[in-house]
Amino acid sequence: MRHCRFVVLVVILFLVVATGFAQQTDAAPSSAAAQSANFDVKAAVEAYLASVPANARARSDAYFEGGYWLILWDFLCTAAIVLSLLATRLSAKMRDLSERVTRFKPLQTFIYWIEFLIITQVVSFPLAVYEAFFRERKYGLMNQTFGAWFGDQMKGLLISLILGGLLVAVLFGLVRRLPRTWWIWGAVVSIAFQAFTAVIGPVYLAPLFNKYTKLEDERVKQPILAMARANGIPATDVWEVDASRQSSRVSANVSGFAGTLRISLNDNLLKRCTLPEIETTMGHEMGHYVLNHIYKGLVMNGVVIVVGFAFLSWGINFALSRWGESWGVRDSVDIAVLPLAVIVLSIYFFVTTPINNTITRTMEFEADMYGLNAARQPDGEANVDLLLGEYRKMDPGPIEEFVFFDHPSGRTRITAAMRWKAEHPETASPEELARPMFTTP
Ligand SMILES: [Zn+2]
Repeated sequence: MRHCRFVVLVVILFLVVATGFAQQTDAAPSSAAAQSANFDVKAAVEAYLASVPANARARSDAYFEGGYWLILWDFLCTAAIVLSLLATRLSAKMRDLSERVTRFKPLQTFIYWIEFLIITQVVSFPLAVYEAFFRERKYGLMNQTFGAWFGDQMKGLLISLILGGLLVAVLFGLVRRLPRTWWIWGAVVSIAFQAFTAVIGPVYLAPLFNKYTKLEDERVKQPILAMARANGIPATDVWEVDASRQSSRVSANVSGFAGTLRISLNDNLLKRCTLPEIETTMGHEMGHYVLNHIYKGLVMNGVVIVVGFAFLSWGINFALSRWGESWGVRDSVDIAVLPLAVIVLSIYFFVTTPINNTITRTMEFEADMYGLNAARQPDGEANVDLLLGEYRKMDPGPIEEFVFFDHPSGRTRITAAMRWKAEHPETASPEELARPMFTTP
C-alpha cells in the first residue's frame, strides 16, 4: 500500500513538473504598474481582496478546501464499491442474469448497465446526498428542497441510464469486434460521444432541469447583442435561465455549436449584478465561443482520453491475468469486466486531476482576457470575481491553484483585471483619475 502511494506521488510530481510549462503566468509582473500610468496594480488588487469580510472568506475557503478532500473520498468510495462487485462475484452474477434474459449481445450489455448503475448509485447515495445537498445547504449555496433536488437526481439518473447505456453498448461492441485495437477506437467513440452531448446538451438536456426564457429587458439585452455582433457571434436572442431554482451562484454561458448556439445568463447574475458586471461576464462567455474553446477542449481532452484508454487496456489485461478467475470474469470481452474498467479509469482521472484542471483553467483565463478587451469593464470584472469567491477560494497558493482549480482564483482574475486597467486609464472614473494612483510620475 505504501509502495502504491509512493508511485502515485511520483506520478503527480512528474505531472506537476511536466505541465508546469503550460501554466499561465498569472501573477502581475512587479513592474507592471511602472510601465504605464502610475496605477498601483498590487494595491488595487489588495483593496478588492480586503473588501471581503473575514468570516465570508473563511467560509468560502472551508467550502472549497473541503472539495479537495471530496475528490479523494469520491475516488475511494467508487473504488470500494466496484472492487466489492468484483470480489463478491456479484458482477459475474449480474452478467449471468443479463445472459438469461436475452441472447442478443448489445441488449445483454444494456441490461448489465442498468443493474450496475442502480446498484452503484444506491450504495453511493449517502455520500452523494451529503456532497451535493447537505453540504451545499450548510454553506448557503442550496436553494432547493430535498424533494426538488432528489427529482433532479432522478432525471440525471435516467439520462445516464439511456446515454451511458448507449455508450457502453457501443464500446463493448468494439471490444468484441476489435479485441486488439479496441482501445484506440473506444477513445475515438468516447470523444465523438462528448461532442454529441455538447451539441444536444443546451437544447435537449439543460431544459429538463431549468426553464429557459428569452430575455426581454432591452437595457440588458441590447448591450449584450451589440457586443455579440461586434465579436462576430451570430445570436439574435439572449436567454435567461432560472438557475436560482437550484442555487444562488452567478453564472452565464455560450453553449452549443452553430445550430444549437445559445447565449444564456442566469437569473442570479441578472438580480445581483450591475450592467458593467453583466457585460464583462458575457464578454468572457463570448471569448469561449470566439476562441473555439469547445473544439480545443475536445482535442485536448481527446489526448487525455486516448492515453486513458491505453492505460485502460493495459490495466484490464494486468488485473484479469491475476484475479480474473477469482472474480468470475472470463476475459476483456465479458461485460462483467465493467467494474474493473471503472476502477482503472478512476485511478487515471484521479491522478490526472491537475492536467484536466489546467486544460480548463487555461481556457478560462483566455476567456477572461477576451472579456476584458470586449467589455472594457475591469472593475465590473473584479466585482464579479468577488461574487465567484463565494464558492471558490479567493487567494490560494500557486501549487494549490495549479492542482485543484478548474478556473483561475479570485486573486489571479482580479490581478489580470487591474493590470488591464493600469494600461487603459481611459476606463477609470473621473474621481479615480483625480486620485494620486493615476497621476503620471
Ligand atoms: Zn468560462
